[in-house]
Amino acid sequence: MHLTRRSLGLALAGLPLASLRPAQAQASPPILLEGAWLFDGQAMTGPAALLIVDGRIHAIAPASIPDGAQRLDLAGRYVIPAMTSAHSHVGHTSGASLGRENHTRENAVAQLRRYQAFGINAVNSLGLNAPLFHELRAESRTGRLPGALLLGAGPGIGMPDGAPPVRVMNLADDQVLRPRNASDAEAAVATHADRGVDLIKIWADGLNNSAPQMTGELISAIVRAAHARNLRVAAHIFDLSQARLSVESGVDIIAHGIRDREVDDAFVAMMRQRGTWYIPTIQIDEAEYIYADQPELTEDPFFRAAINPEMTARIKDATWRAGQLERAAPRRAAVRTNQANLKKLHDAGIPIAFGTDSGGTPLRVQGFAEHRELELMVEAGLTPAQALNIATIRSSELLGLNDRGAIREGMRADLVVLGGNPLENIRNTRSIRSVMQNGQEVAGPIA
Ligand SMILES: [Zn+2]
Repeated sequence: MHLTRRSLGLALAGLPLASLRPAQAQASPPILLEGAWLFDGQAMTGPAALLIVDGRIHAIAPASIPDGAQRLDLAGRYVIPAMTSAHSHVGHTSGASLGRENHTRENAVAQLRRYQAFGINAVNSLGLNAPLFHELRAESRTGRLPGALLLGAGPGIGMPDGAPPVRVMNLADDQVLRPRNASDAEAAVATHADRGVDLIKIWADGLNNSAPQMTGELISAIVRAAHARNLRVAAHIFDLSQARLSVESGVDIIAHGIRDREVDDAFVAMMRQRGTWYIPTIQIDEAEYIYADQPELTEDPFFRAAINPEMTARIKDATWRAGQLERAAPRRAAVRTNQANLKKLHDAGIPIAFGTDSGGTPLRVQGFAEHRELELMVEAGLTPAQALNIATIRSSELLGLNDRGAIREGMRADLVVLGGNPLENIRNTRSIRSVMQNGQEVAGPIA
């Protein structure tokens, strides 16, 4: 049995989700979740009761239960904090297309709802955002937008005639800011800050040596301007050389895994000394071949809930699959290198956050990509608890969301109820029975 709004005793059926504001959560009766195991963000404890008052976790194993509390029997269930994606893209894809015409309110809201239904309740849209993003971000911060919380980097800063490629990504000409010198770079950061962003995104790579790469001088100028405005800088990279230049130039977050070679000890030491964060996005390369390898995924109910009909048709097309497989070898190698580097950096104590680049292209399937990423992290040698710790507490911490990502007193009751133990098998994160935001159910079972 999954939680229904009726079982929660909340008279919400029929109300648009947009009306679920924190103010209304405060008027709801206390909720007692009984009998579930709790993954607090570090380890599994319990079974223990969880008392939610005013949309927040009030007590674990409470000594007394308030009168009128709604009691929910979750015996045999596993409750984890809702996840936070530190690297995704919202509103950029639709069906089998990507690009400027997809950046509509309706599309962004549908995607934020999908993330939430898959247990991801905060999403950092890391660049490629159209001007509409700033409006949606402001509404999301004040609880006026349904679905996962929307954070992000605005348009981002790339290279003139370089990354991100205008034609391939189907961008408007001015969608990404492309400074030519340090003073342009300063102005580009100021534009972002004035419009309202959570961080600055840069594209530091040279598109596999086919375009000019961002220089250390330009990166440093962007970092100085961003830090002066209390904004951190996340860099899109592929190679170790680009990552090294970015870290040396003061970048705060490496936004993709290093995929051309194994990281060396000097680089690891530099990241540790500077406190640089790392988001591996292992699934970004796997997305190019997994559906050609496993077209039967289109019959899998969990995947079907994430994919759209246009992409399903593409995956079922044998010619398309053959083309993907022909180009797959370097992508497979990139995944293996990414996994080895994740394990090495994690063991070295480098702070890791969770992301997939989902929504960057139609193959990077929002919702599904995140659950695959957890599996790929475990395959890389992390324990399920470590992978989930990264997807919950650590990613929330990176984004300054200190009120979520853990099951602790005082935290927001943004929770996912699972049917199976994710520490026994990380694939059990797919067994979603219910997603709660501010203590209220906002989604039920996926499959
Ligand atoms: Zn991205």
